[in-house]
Amino acid sequence: MPNSALPRQTQAFAIWREAQDTRVRTRLGGIYYLLAWLLTWLFSSTPRDLLASGLLFAVFFALMLTLRWLHKLPEQDSPTALQRWIDRHWGLILITSLTWGLLHAWAWSAPQFEPSRLIATLSTVAFSTAMAFNFPMRKGRGISAIFLLYLPGLIALGVNWGEHHALLITLAVYLSYLLLALNRSHREYHATLKMEQQLIEQRERFDLLSRTDSLTQLGNRFEFNNLFPVLVANAQRQQGQLSLVLLDIDFFKRINDEYGHTIGDRCLNAFADRMRQVFRRDSDALLRLGGEEFGVLMLDTSQEQARELAEEFRQNLACKGLAIEEHHLPLTASLGLGSYDPVHDSSAEAFFKRVDDALYRAKEEGRDRLVMAG
Ligand code: GH3
Ligand code: MG
Ligand code: MG
Repeated sequence: MPNSALPRQTQAFAIWREAQDTRVRTRLGGIYYLLAWLLTWLFSSTPRDLLASGLLFAVFFALMLTLRWLHKLPEQDSPTALQRWIDRHWGLILITSLTWGLLHAWAWSAPQFEPSRLIATLSTVAFSTAMAFNFPMRKGRGISAIFLLYLPGLIALGVNWGEHHALLITLAVYLSYLLLALNRSHREYHATLKMEQQLIEQRERFDLLSRTDSLTQLGNRFEFNNLFPVLVANAQRQQGQLSLVLLDIDFFKRINDEYGHTIGDRCLNAFADRMRQVFRRDSDALLRLGGEEFGVLMLDTSQEQARELAEEFRQNLACKGLAIEEHHLPLTASLGLGSYDPVHDSSAEAFFKRVDDALYRAKEEGRDRLVMAG
Protein backbone atom coordinates (compact mmCIF):
# COMPACT_ATOMS: atom_id res chain seq x y z
CA MET A 1 0.00 0.00 0.00
CA PRO A 2 1.59 3.30 -1.01
CA ASN A 3 2.04 5.82 1.78
CA SER A 4 -0.23 8.32 0.07
CA ALA A 5 -3.11 5.84 0.46
CA LEU A 6 -2.81 5.86 4.24
CA PRO A 7 -5.45 7.81 6.15
CA ARG A 8 -3.96 11.14 7.15
CA GLN A 9 -5.08 11.36 10.76
CA THR A 10 -3.48 9.02 13.21
CA GLN A 11 -6.76 8.11 14.95
CA ALA A 12 -8.26 7.17 11.61
CA PHE A 13 -5.07 5.26 10.92
CA ALA A 14 -5.48 3.04 14.03
CA ILE A 15 -8.95 1.83 13.03
CA TRP A 16 -7.92 1.48 9.39
CA ARG A 17 -4.95 -0.66 10.40
CA GLU A 18 -7.11 -2.81 12.68
CA ALA A 19 -9.60 -3.45 9.88
CA GLN A 20 -6.79 -4.35 7.46
CA ASP A 21 -5.19 -6.74 9.96
CA THR A 22 -8.52 -8.36 10.84
CA ARG A 23 -9.31 -8.90 7.17
CA VAL A 24 -5.94 -10.45 6.33
CA ARG A 25 -5.92 -12.70 9.38
CA THR A 26 -9.44 -14.11 9.09
CA ARG A 27 -8.97 -15.07 5.45
CA LEU A 28 -6.87 -18.13 6.18
CA GLY A 29 -8.45 -19.33 9.42
CA GLY A 30 -11.97 -20.02 8.18
CA ILE A 31 -11.04 -22.99 6.03
CA TYR A 32 -9.56 -24.94 8.95
CA TYR A 33 -12.87 -25.01 10.84
CA LEU A 34 -14.38 -26.72 7.82
CA LEU A 35 -11.47 -29.18 7.54
CA ALA A 36 -11.44 -29.92 11.28
CA TRP A 37 -15.14 -30.67 11.22
CA LEU A 38 -14.84 -32.91 8.13
CA LEU A 39 -12.05 -34.89 9.86
CA THR A 40 -13.96 -35.16 13.14
CA TRP A 41 -17.09 -36.29 11.34
CA LEU A 42 -15.53 -38.64 8.76
CA PHE A 43 -13.23 -40.34 11.29
CA SER A 44 -16.07 -40.88 13.74
CA SER A 45 -17.23 -44.50 14.11
CA THR A 46 -20.50 -43.89 12.19
CA PRO A 47 -20.05 -41.12 9.59
CA ARG A 48 -23.05 -42.43 7.61
CA ASP A 49 -25.40 -42.18 10.59
CA LEU A 50 -24.16 -38.63 11.12
CA LEU A 51 -24.69 -37.71 7.48
CA ALA A 52 -27.35 -35.04 8.08
CA SER A 53 -25.53 -33.20 10.84
CA GLY A 54 -22.19 -33.82 9.13
CA LEU A 55 -23.37 -32.07 5.99
CA LEU A 56 -25.23 -29.39 7.91
CA PHE A 57 -22.12 -28.28 9.81
CA ALA A 58 -19.91 -28.63 6.75
CA VAL A 59 -22.27 -26.30 4.90
CA PHE A 60 -22.35 -23.99 7.91
CA PHE A 61 -18.54 -23.66 8.08
CA ALA A 62 -18.34 -23.29 4.28
CA LEU A 63 -20.91 -20.52 4.55
CA MET A 64 -18.95 -18.77 7.32
CA LEU A 65 -15.81 -19.06 5.24
CA THR A 66 -17.56 -17.55 2.22
CA LEU A 67 -19.00 -14.74 4.30
CA ARG A 68 -15.53 -13.92 5.63
CA TRP A 69 -14.21 -13.72 2.09
CA LEU A 70 -17.17 -11.81 0.71
CA HIS A 71 -17.19 -9.32 3.57
CA LYS A 72 -15.17 -6.64 1.79
CA LEU A 73 -13.76 -3.60 3.53
CA PRO A 74 -15.87 -0.46 3.05
CA GLU A 75 -15.04 1.67 0.04
CA GLN A 76 -14.54 4.84 2.02
CA ASP A 77 -12.09 4.85 4.92
CA SER A 78 -14.37 6.65 7.37
CA PRO A 79 -13.77 5.48 10.96
CA THR A 80 -17.50 4.80 11.47
CA ALA A 81 -17.73 2.60 8.38
CA LEU A 82 -14.55 0.75 9.37
CA GLN A 83 -15.77 0.29 12.95
CA ARG A 84 -19.05 -1.17 11.66
CA TRP A 85 -17.12 -3.52 9.39
CA ILE A 86 -14.90 -4.67 12.28
CA ASP A 87 -17.93 -5.28 14.53
CA ARG A 88 -19.68 -7.37 11.88
CA HIS A 89 -16.55 -9.31 11.09
CA TRP A 90 -16.10 -10.12 14.75
CA GLY A 91 -19.69 -11.32 14.70
CA LEU A 92 -18.64 -13.94 12.12
CA ILE A 93 -15.57 -14.90 14.16
CA LEU A 94 -17.56 -15.31 17.39
CA ILE A 95 -20.37 -17.34 15.74
CA THR A 96 -17.78 -19.67 14.19
CA SER A 97 -15.98 -20.02 17.55
CA LEU A 98 -19.18 -20.83 19.43
CA THR A 99 -20.27 -23.41 16.86
CA TRP A 100 -16.90 -25.12 17.00
CA GLY A 101 -16.93 -25.04 20.81
CA LEU A 102 -20.32 -26.77 20.81
CA LEU A 103 -19.19 -29.40 18.29
CA HIS A 104 -16.15 -30.11 20.44
CA ALA A 105 -18.44 -30.60 23.46
CA TRP A 106 -20.65 -32.88 21.36
CA ALA A 107 -17.60 -34.94 20.36
CA TRP A 108 -16.94 -35.62 24.06
CA SER A 109 -20.56 -36.41 24.85
CA ALA A 110 -21.51 -38.72 21.95
CA PRO A 111 -19.86 -42.17 21.78
CA GLN A 112 -19.77 -42.16 17.92
CA PHE A 113 -16.97 -39.60 18.14
CA GLU A 114 -14.75 -41.78 20.28
CA PRO A 115 -12.21 -42.37 17.49
CA SER A 116 -12.12 -38.73 16.39
CA ARG A 117 -12.62 -36.67 19.54
CA LEU A 118 -8.87 -36.17 19.85
CA ILE A 119 -8.99 -34.48 16.43
CA ALA A 120 -11.67 -32.13 17.79
CA THR A 121 -9.63 -31.36 20.91
CA LEU A 122 -6.41 -30.75 18.99
CA SER A 123 -8.33 -28.48 16.64
CA THR A 124 -9.80 -26.57 19.58
CA VAL A 125 -6.31 -26.07 20.98
CA ALA A 126 -5.06 -24.96 17.56
CA PHE A 127 -7.96 -22.54 16.97
CA SER A 128 -7.68 -20.90 20.37
CA THR A 129 -3.90 -20.62 20.01
CA ALA A 130 -4.37 -18.95 16.64
CA MET A 131 -6.92 -16.65 18.25
CA ALA A 132 -4.51 -15.61 21.00
CA PHE A 133 -1.74 -14.76 18.57
CA ASN A 134 -3.62 -13.49 15.49
CA PHE A 135 -6.43 -11.48 17.03
CA PRO A 136 -4.92 -9.44 19.80
CA MET A 137 -6.42 -6.16 18.53
CA ARG A 138 -9.33 -6.30 20.99
CA LYS A 139 -8.61 -8.10 24.22
CA GLY A 140 -12.23 -8.53 25.30
CA ARG A 141 -13.27 -10.00 21.98
CA GLY A 142 -10.20 -12.25 21.81
CA ILE A 143 -10.92 -13.64 25.30
CA SER A 144 -14.59 -14.17 24.39
CA ALA A 145 -13.64 -16.10 21.25
CA ILE A 146 -11.21 -18.32 23.21
CA PHE A 147 -13.85 -19.00 25.87
CA LEU A 148 -16.47 -19.83 23.25
CA LEU A 149 -14.07 -22.27 21.63
CA TYR A 150 -12.91 -23.77 24.88
CA LEU A 151 -15.59 -23.72 27.56
CA PRO A 152 -18.27 -26.04 26.06
CA GLY A 153 -15.60 -28.76 25.71
CA LEU A 154 -14.39 -28.24 29.30
CA ILE A 155 -17.97 -28.53 30.56
CA ALA A 156 -18.52 -31.72 28.57
CA LEU A 157 -15.31 -33.16 30.00
CA GLY A 158 -16.29 -32.03 33.50
CA VAL A 159 -19.58 -33.93 33.27
CA ASN A 160 -17.51 -37.06 33.03
CA TRP A 161 -14.91 -35.92 35.55
CA GLY A 162 -13.89 -39.38 36.69
CA GLU A 163 -12.77 -40.41 33.23
CA HIS A 164 -11.55 -37.14 31.75
CA HIS A 165 -10.18 -35.09 34.62
CA ALA A 166 -6.54 -35.37 33.49
CA LEU A 167 -7.35 -33.96 30.04
CA LEU A 168 -9.63 -31.31 31.53
CA ILE A 169 -6.92 -30.10 33.91
CA THR A 170 -4.34 -30.08 31.12
CA LEU A 171 -6.65 -28.07 28.86
CA ALA A 172 -7.42 -25.64 31.69
CA VAL A 173 -3.69 -25.12 32.32
CA TYR A 174 -3.20 -24.46 28.61
CA LEU A 175 -6.15 -22.06 28.66
CA SER A 176 -4.42 -19.99 31.33
CA TYR A 177 -1.32 -19.84 29.12
CA LEU A 178 -3.45 -18.70 26.17
CA LEU A 179 -5.00 -15.90 28.18
CA LEU A 180 -1.57 -14.68 29.26
CA ALA A 181 -0.31 -14.96 25.68
CA LEU A 182 -3.31 -13.00 24.40
CA ASN A 183 -2.65 -10.32 26.98
CA ARG A 184 0.95 -10.03 25.84
CA SER A 185 0.20 -10.05 22.13
CA HIS A 186 -2.46 -7.40 22.77
CA ARG A 187 0.17 -5.16 24.39
CA GLU A 188 2.67 -5.82 21.62
CA TYR A 189 0.12 -5.17 18.88
CA HIS A 190 -0.79 -1.79 20.32
CA ALA A 191 2.84 -0.85 21.01
CA THR A 192 3.66 -1.55 17.35
CA LEU A 193 0.60 0.38 16.25
CA LYS A 194 1.64 3.35 18.38
CA MET A 195 5.12 3.25 16.91
CA GLU A 196 3.67 3.19 13.42
CA GLN A 197 1.46 6.18 14.28
CA GLN A 198 4.46 8.07 15.63
CA LEU A 199 6.36 7.35 12.42
CA ILE A 200 3.47 8.69 10.37
CA GLU A 201 3.24 11.81 12.53
CA GLN A 202 6.98 12.32 12.25
CA ARG A 203 6.90 11.89 8.50
CA GLU A 204 4.08 14.43 8.26
CA ARG A 205 6.04 16.85 10.44
CA PHE A 206 9.15 16.47 8.29
CA ASP A 207 7.06 16.83 5.19
CA LEU A 208 5.57 20.08 6.50
CA LEU A 209 9.01 21.35 7.57
CA SER A 210 10.47 20.63 4.15
CA ARG A 211 7.73 22.73 2.57
CA THR A 212 7.85 25.62 5.03
CA ASP A 213 10.18 28.61 5.12
CA SER A 214 11.65 28.58 8.61
CA LEU A 215 11.90 32.38 8.94
CA THR A 216 8.39 33.41 7.89
CA GLN A 217 6.46 30.13 8.15
CA LEU A 218 5.17 30.70 4.63
CA GLY A 219 5.48 28.00 1.99
CA ASN A 220 9.01 27.86 0.56
CA ARG A 221 10.35 27.58 -2.96
CA PHE A 222 10.13 23.79 -2.84
CA GLU A 223 6.43 24.06 -1.98
CA PHE A 224 5.95 26.54 -4.81
CA ASN A 225 7.73 24.24 -7.28
CA ASN A 226 5.42 21.40 -6.27
CA LEU A 227 2.23 23.40 -6.09
CA PHE A 228 2.50 25.70 -9.08
CA PRO A 229 2.46 23.14 -11.94
CA VAL A 230 -0.38 21.24 -10.25
CA LEU A 231 -2.53 24.36 -9.85
CA VAL A 232 -1.81 25.43 -13.42
CA ALA A 233 -2.74 21.96 -14.71
CA ASN A 234 -5.99 22.06 -12.67
CA ALA A 235 -6.84 25.52 -13.94
CA GLN A 236 -6.25 24.30 -17.48
CA ARG A 237 -8.40 21.18 -17.05
CA GLN A 238 -11.27 22.78 -15.18
CA GLN A 239 -11.03 26.17 -16.86
CA GLY A 240 -10.66 27.72 -13.41
CA GLN A 241 -9.09 31.06 -12.68
CA LEU A 242 -5.63 31.12 -11.17
CA SER A 243 -3.84 34.35 -10.36
CA LEU A 244 -0.21 34.79 -9.35
CA VAL A 245 1.28 37.81 -7.60
CA LEU A 246 5.05 38.16 -7.30
CA LEU A 247 6.30 40.65 -4.72
CA ASP A 248 9.84 41.91 -4.25
CA ILE A 249 10.80 44.30 -1.47
CA ASP A 250 12.40 47.47 -2.81
CA PHE A 251 15.98 48.28 -1.83
CA PHE A 252 15.99 45.67 0.86
CA LYS A 253 19.75 45.55 0.87
CA ARG A 254 19.72 49.02 2.42
CA ILE A 255 17.67 47.77 5.36
CA ASN A 256 20.29 45.15 6.10
CA ASP A 257 23.09 47.64 5.64
CA GLU A 258 21.46 50.26 7.84
CA TYR A 259 19.86 48.20 10.62
CA GLY A 260 21.69 44.90 10.47
CA HIS A 261 20.73 41.43 9.36
CA THR A 262 18.66 40.62 12.45
CA ILE A 263 16.33 43.54 11.90
CA GLY A 264 16.33 42.56 8.20
CA ASP A 265 15.07 39.13 9.18
CA ARG A 266 12.35 40.58 11.42
CA CYS A 267 11.39 42.80 8.56
CA LEU A 268 10.88 39.78 6.29
CA ASN A 269 8.79 38.22 9.03
CA ALA A 270 6.63 41.33 9.42
CA PHE A 271 6.26 41.51 5.65
CA ALA A 272 4.92 37.93 5.68
CA ASP A 273 2.47 38.85 8.47
CA ARG A 274 1.26 41.80 6.43
CA MET A 275 0.71 39.44 3.50
CA ARG A 276 -1.40 37.16 5.74
CA GLN A 277 -3.54 40.13 6.74
CA VAL A 278 -4.36 41.02 3.15
CA PHE A 279 -4.41 37.66 1.33
CA ARG A 280 -6.70 35.94 3.79
CA ARG A 281 -8.55 33.24 1.89
CA ASP A 282 -7.85 29.66 2.89
CA SER A 283 -7.21 28.82 -0.72
CA ASP A 284 -4.53 31.53 -1.11
CA ALA A 285 -1.06 29.98 -1.04
CA LEU A 286 1.43 32.44 0.47
CA LEU A 287 5.05 31.74 -0.30
CA ARG A 288 8.54 33.06 0.23
CA LEU A 289 10.25 32.29 -3.04
CA GLY A 290 13.72 33.30 -1.85
CA GLY A 291 15.53 36.23 -0.23
CA GLU A 292 13.12 39.19 -0.24
CA GLU A 293 10.92 37.83 -2.97
CA PHE A 294 7.43 36.51 -2.22
CA GLY A 295 4.50 35.07 -4.11
CA VAL A 296 0.77 34.52 -3.71
CA LEU A 297 -1.11 31.89 -5.69
CA MET A 298 -4.82 32.66 -5.71
CA LEU A 299 -7.24 29.95 -6.73
CA ASP A 300 -10.58 30.80 -8.34
CA THR A 301 -9.60 34.45 -8.35
CA SER A 302 -9.97 36.65 -11.40
CA GLN A 303 -7.23 39.03 -12.45
CA GLU A 304 -9.37 41.97 -11.34
CA GLN A 305 -10.02 40.56 -7.84
CA ALA A 306 -6.33 39.74 -7.49
CA ARG A 307 -5.38 43.22 -8.70
CA GLU A 308 -7.54 44.86 -6.01
CA LEU A 309 -5.91 42.82 -3.26
CA ALA A 310 -2.39 43.28 -4.57
CA GLU A 311 -2.91 47.04 -4.89
CA GLU A 312 -4.37 47.16 -1.37
CA PHE A 313 -1.27 45.39 -0.11
CA ARG A 314 1.10 47.74 -1.94
CA GLN A 315 -0.67 50.88 -0.73
CA ASN A 316 -0.94 49.61 2.82
CA LEU A 317 2.80 48.90 2.91
CA ALA A 318 3.72 52.18 1.27
CA CYS A 319 1.57 54.10 3.81
CA LYS A 320 2.41 52.28 6.99
CA GLY A 321 5.79 50.70 6.30
CA LEU A 322 6.79 48.15 8.94
CA ALA A 323 7.31 48.65 12.65
CA ILE A 324 10.17 46.55 14.00
CA GLU A 325 10.96 47.07 17.68
CA GLU A 326 11.51 50.82 18.08
CA HIS A 327 12.25 51.30 14.40
CA HIS A 328 9.70 52.44 11.93
CA LEU A 329 10.91 51.24 8.57
CA PRO A 330 9.47 52.93 5.53
CA LEU A 331 9.28 50.12 3.04
CA THR A 332 7.80 49.57 -0.37
CA ALA A 333 7.48 46.61 -2.68
CA SER A 334 7.19 46.09 -6.41
CA LEU A 335 4.57 43.65 -7.64
CA GLY A 336 3.89 41.74 -10.83
CA LEU A 337 0.50 40.14 -11.35
CA GLY A 338 -1.10 37.88 -13.90
CA SER A 339 -3.86 35.31 -14.33
CA TYR A 340 -3.30 32.06 -16.08
CA ASP A 341 -4.39 32.28 -19.68
CA PRO A 342 -4.48 28.94 -21.52
CA VAL A 343 -4.32 30.70 -24.89
CA HIS A 344 -1.10 32.60 -24.17
CA ASP A 345 0.56 30.48 -21.51
CA SER A 346 1.79 27.30 -23.17
CA SER A 347 3.12 25.99 -19.84
CA ALA A 348 3.37 26.79 -16.14
CA GLU A 349 6.89 28.15 -16.81
CA ALA A 350 5.53 30.47 -19.51
CA PHE A 351 2.87 31.77 -17.11
CA PHE A 352 5.48 32.36 -14.40
CA LYS A 353 7.77 34.17 -16.81
CA ARG A 354 4.96 36.50 -17.88
CA VAL A 355 4.36 37.52 -14.25
CA ASP A 356 8.08 37.70 -13.48
CA ASP A 357 8.56 40.02 -16.46
CA ALA A 358 5.80 42.23 -15.05
CA LEU A 359 7.66 42.38 -11.72
CA TYR A 360 10.85 43.26 -13.57
CA ARG A 361 9.02 46.09 -15.33
CA ALA A 362 7.67 47.35 -12.00
CA LYS A 363 11.28 47.64 -10.82
CA GLU A 364 12.39 49.30 -14.01
CA GLU A 365 9.56 51.79 -14.03
CA GLY A 366 10.57 53.10 -10.61
CA ARG A 367 9.47 50.50 -7.97
CA ASP A 368 6.59 50.75 -5.46
CA ARG A 369 4.10 49.80 -8.11
CA LEU A 370 1.96 46.99 -9.43
CA VAL A 371 2.38 46.00 -13.05
CA MET A 372 -0.04 43.69 -14.80
CA ALA A 373 1.45 40.92 -16.92
CA GLY A 374 0.99 41.52 -20.62
P1 GH3 B 1 15.54 45.83 -5.49
O1 GH3 B 1 14.63 46.96 -5.21
O2 GH3 B 1 16.18 45.93 -6.82
O3 GH3 B 1 14.87 44.53 -5.27
O4 GH3 B 1 16.72 45.97 -4.44
P2 GH3 B 1 17.07 44.97 -3.31
O5 GH3 B 1 18.15 45.56 -2.47
O6 GH3 B 1 15.85 44.56 -2.57
O7 GH3 B 1 17.57 43.75 -4.12
P3 GH3 B 1 18.89 42.96 -4.15
O8 GH3 B 1 18.63 41.74 -4.94
O9 GH3 B 1 20.04 43.86 -4.61
O10 GH3 B 1 19.18 42.57 -2.65
C1 GH3 B 1 18.36 41.72 -1.94
C2 GH3 B 1 18.84 41.71 -0.53
O11 GH3 B 1 18.01 40.92 0.28
C3 GH3 B 1 20.24 41.18 -0.40
C4 GH3 B 1 20.20 40.38 0.88
O12 GH3 B 1 21.07 40.93 1.83
C5 GH3 B 1 18.79 40.51 1.37
N1 GH3 B 1 18.31 39.23 1.86
C6 GH3 B 1 18.02 38.13 1.14
N2 GH3 B 1 17.62 37.13 1.98
C7 GH3 B 1 17.66 37.62 3.23
C8 GH3 B 1 17.38 37.07 4.52
O13 GH3 B 1 16.99 35.91 4.68
N3 GH3 B 1 17.53 37.88 5.60
C9 GH3 B 1 17.95 39.17 5.46
N4 GH3 B 1 18.09 39.89 6.56
N5 GH3 B 1 18.24 39.67 4.27
C10 GH3 B 1 18.10 38.95 3.16
MG1 MG C 1 14.37 43.55 -3.66
MG1 MG D 1 15.01 40.38 -5.22
